[in-house]
Amino acid sequence: VGGRDRFVGAEPIDVLKTVFGFPAFRGLQGDAVARVMAGADTLVLMPTGGGKSVCYQIPALCRRGMGLVVSPLIALMDDQVAALRQLGVNAAALHSELSEDEAFRIRADLADGRLDILYVSPERLLSSGTLDRLTRQSISVIAIDEAHCISAWGHEFRPEYRALESLPRNFPGVPRIALTATADPRTRDDILAALAMPHAEVLSASFHRPNLIISARPKGGETKQLIAALDRRRGDASIVYCGSRARTERTAATLRDKGFPACAYHAGLSPQEKRAALHRFRSGEPIVMVATIAFGMGIDRPDVRAVVHLDMPSSAEAYYQQIGRAGRDGLPSDTLLLYGGEDMTRARYWLDQSAAPESEKRVMRGRLEAMIALTETTSCRTRALLACFGEVLPEPCGHCDNCRSPAPTFDGTEAARKLLSAVYRTGQRFGALHVISVLRGKPSDSASRNGHDKLSVWGIGKDGSETFWRGVVRQLIARGALRMGDEHGGLALNDEVARPILRGDEPVMLREDAIEAETASGRKGE
Ligand code: ADP
Ligand code: ZN
Repeated sequence: VGGRDRFVGAEPIDVLKTVFGFPAFRGLQGDAVARVMAGADTLVLMPTGGGKSVCYQIPALCRRGMGLVVSPLIALMDDQVAALRQLGVNAAALHSELSEDEAFRIRADLADGRLDILYVSPERLLSSGTLDRLTRQSISVIAIDEAHCISAWGHEFRPEYRALESLPRNFPGVPRIALTATADPRTRDDILAALAMPHAEVLSASFHRPNLIISARPKGGETKQLIAALDRRRGDASIVYCGSRARTERTAATLRDKGFPACAYHAGLSPQEKRAALHRFRSGEPIVMVATIAFGMGIDRPDVRAVVHLDMPSSAEAYYQQIGRAGRDGLPSDTLLLYGGEDMTRARYWLDQSAAPESEKRVMRGRLEAMIALTETTSCRTRALLACFGEVLPEPCGHCDNCRSPAPTFDGTEAARKLLSAVYRTGQRFGALHVISVLRGKPSDSASRNGHDKLSVWGIGKDGSETFWRGVVRQLIARGALRMGDEHGGLALNDEVARPILRGDEPVMLREDAIEAETASGRKGE
């Protein structure tokens, strides 16, 4: 096997072939490797499955010294170490879940200069004992994996990552390579600033994943919609993302009743339960993981055939990362986002209420609005999603739901005016269901108690079904004419957007298919 520096002097491409067994570099890998070999700092942006690991593993072997890899997740480190060991690379991981014996053995290997690559969690790396040991070693390269964790704007912020700013002082002259699958420009700038590498070259791959079939539909009988999506992929692995822990448990139970091998995963599970769930997922057996966003980084199963969102993510970035867990093997895979007006008003409301500084809220709001716009877009969804990352797809993708069956629209100006009037006349404190029942003139205690059956808007929407009106509400929310006025879900007008519509100055085109889809799947939600 030979010592640690046995590949020093070898050509990177030869190491790629002989150690990793790949015939050629893929995409930006060659460029990234060349830069690190030359001793320069680099930031690599590549979608999940793009092949980021090779970018630092090859320089780690070909440069003198040991490669140091900062990684946020133990499961991720252990996977990488196991894979490298199979290739004959002497890799190890230092983290909090090692036994005393294991930690002792790794420290001994480290002291003897036997390790090719060491994975380490950020808090472990910067603890004084470890830092002392490492600064005594010769280090070939420092890789910062999942580098977006350093950005407070991101959806996976890890405060421990902030301390990585001190790396150049502790390891002067050692080239650094930061890697992430998060593409938005804001996060990228944040990474460069936080790692104190303003002059790093940024290598950015295309984020287009042509094998992902993106689709989104308004909620309408979620359980049925979910089962229909998963049925197509029975016998495969799927992930279902939910907005809350309780919902993962409930949904997993429902799916098990329907004969799916479903398993809930969220941050409230014990470490043993988490490990067992991950083990099942990794084993290759058919499984439906019903999870919160806690199930994320380091999920490295290549054959996930479907990702379904039962709740809308808070940003296009989070959405992209989550659907990106499907089809890492490059085979066609389905993604389905189910969305509803209430998700949107709630997300906006809580963002407004949050104690975060206004500057931060502005950024989060921008991201949320981009996500909402994605749900209601009538043009190519893949293109709209990539546009969020500043990438221009020259042609429509041809296989997202909107490309396959373009969404017809109709002139919904009158319907929109009626609905906004009803919200206004009922005092801007009632939820969608009440407002709709007033429009449709449906007698109820609440309507008579509040005198709503005497209003001019009573019954002016009789000709539309409840489902139709729910579609109108959602689309008016999406375009910002309606908002959640209080924490009870009461709808209120956003004057700036609503007024021109009410006055009849602003035509409102609505998606027809969205409304039909709700009718077709039966409208009773859960
Ligand atoms: P990422 O970290 O970007 O999600 P990985 O480094 O895990 O991606 O690589 C994704 C997959 O691509 C792995 O299965 C890996 O073996 C494969 N791969 C990486 N580089 C190459 C290459 N040059 N040629 C062929 N396959 C590659
Ligand atoms: Zn498309």
